[in-house]
Amino acid sequence: MSEPLAIGVDIGGTKIAYGLVDRIGQVHATHRLPTLPEEGTEAVIDRITQGIEHMLTLSDAPIVGIGMGSPGQINPHTGVVYLATNLAWRNVELVQGVKQRLSRDIPVWLNNDANASAMGEMLFGAARGCTDFLILTVGTGLGGAAISDGKLLLGGKFVAMEVGHIPVMPNGRLCVCGSLGCPEMYASGTGMMAGLQEHLPHYPFSVLANKEGITTEDILRAAREGDPLGSLLVDEIVSGLLAVTVPVIGLFDPLRVVVGGGLALAAWDLLGDRITTRLHEALAQTVFDDVPVVKSEVSSSAVGAASLVWYELDNEKF
Ligand SMILES: [Zn+2]
Repeated sequence: MSEPLAIGVDIGGTKIAYGLVDRIGQVHATHRLPTLPEEGTEAVIDRITQGIEHMLTLSDAPIVGIGMGSPGQINPHTGVVYLATNLAWRNVELVQGVKQRLSRDIPVWLNNDANASAMGEMLFGAARGCTDFLILTVGTGLGGAAISDGKLLLGGKFVAMEVGHIPVMPNGRLCVCGSLGCPEMYASGTGMMAGLQEHLPHYPFSVLANKEGITTEDILRAAREGDPLGSLLVDEIVSGLLAVTVPVIGLFDPLRVVVGGGLALAAWDLLGDRITTRLHEALAQTVFDDVPVVKSEVSSSAVGAASLVWYELDNEKF
C-alpha cells in the first residue's frame, strides 16, 4: 500500500493553495483555486471543499488528515475563525463547514496561517528539531508565530505573536489597524509603499522618483543598484523587524529566528545579513545571547498547513 498522505490547504485572500504532502514534507501534488471572498462565506467553503475533493482523486494513498491554514484570529480547538479581515469573515465555523461538505470522514485541523508556517518549519524546514523559535513572515503584511517547548504559542484569545500590530515604533506611521507605529507599517509590502509615499518628496533624484505604479520589486531593484531611497526602504524593513524582535526574544528566549514570507524571500540578498548584523548589535547591549537568523525553508504554504496533520498524529501516539 502507498504511504499515507496529508492534504494541506492554505486559504489566502486571493487564492486557495492545496498540496498532497507526505510524512517527510515531500509534495506529491498541488492545486490552486481562486478564493473570491466577495461571493460570500458559503461559496468560499464550497470551493475549499471542492479543491479537497479534487486532491482526493489524485492519489490512491490513504489520506490521514486535512490541515488548513487561514489568516486571522482562529480557535484551533473548535475550528472557528473568529475574525479574518481579508476574507470578511467573522465567527465562521470553518472545520465544521468543510466536514459537512466532504464526501469522506477525514480528520480536519485548522490554525492561523503564521502558526501553520511555524509548524512547517519545525517539522520540515529551517527549524527542524528546534523546540524554541520565532518565525516572522514578511509579505503584504507582517505576521509571526512562536514555538515554545515544541508547542505553538496560541494565547488566550489566539492572537499571540501578532507582531505586525504591536505598536513599538516611536513616532511611527498610522497603521491600517488604527494604531500608531505598528511594525507592519515598515516591515511589509504595505509598509514599504507607505514609506515610499512618505520619503519620495525628499528624494527627487531617486530612480523611483517620477515613476508610475511602483512595485516592491522596483524598490528592491533600486536598492540593489545602490539607490538611497530603495536602500532606506529596505533598512526600514529591518528596523521594523528589529523593533519587535528584540523584546520578543527577551520574552520567549528562542534559539532561532526564522524569517519567511514572499517579500522577505524575494529580498533575502538585501535583508539576511542586515537583520543578522543589527540583531547582533542590539542583543550585545542586553543580557540575552545572540540568536541566529535563518531563512524559511518551507517552499509552500500548503506544506505548513499539512504539517498541522502530522504534528497532531505524532502527538496522539504519546
Ligand atoms: Zn497595526
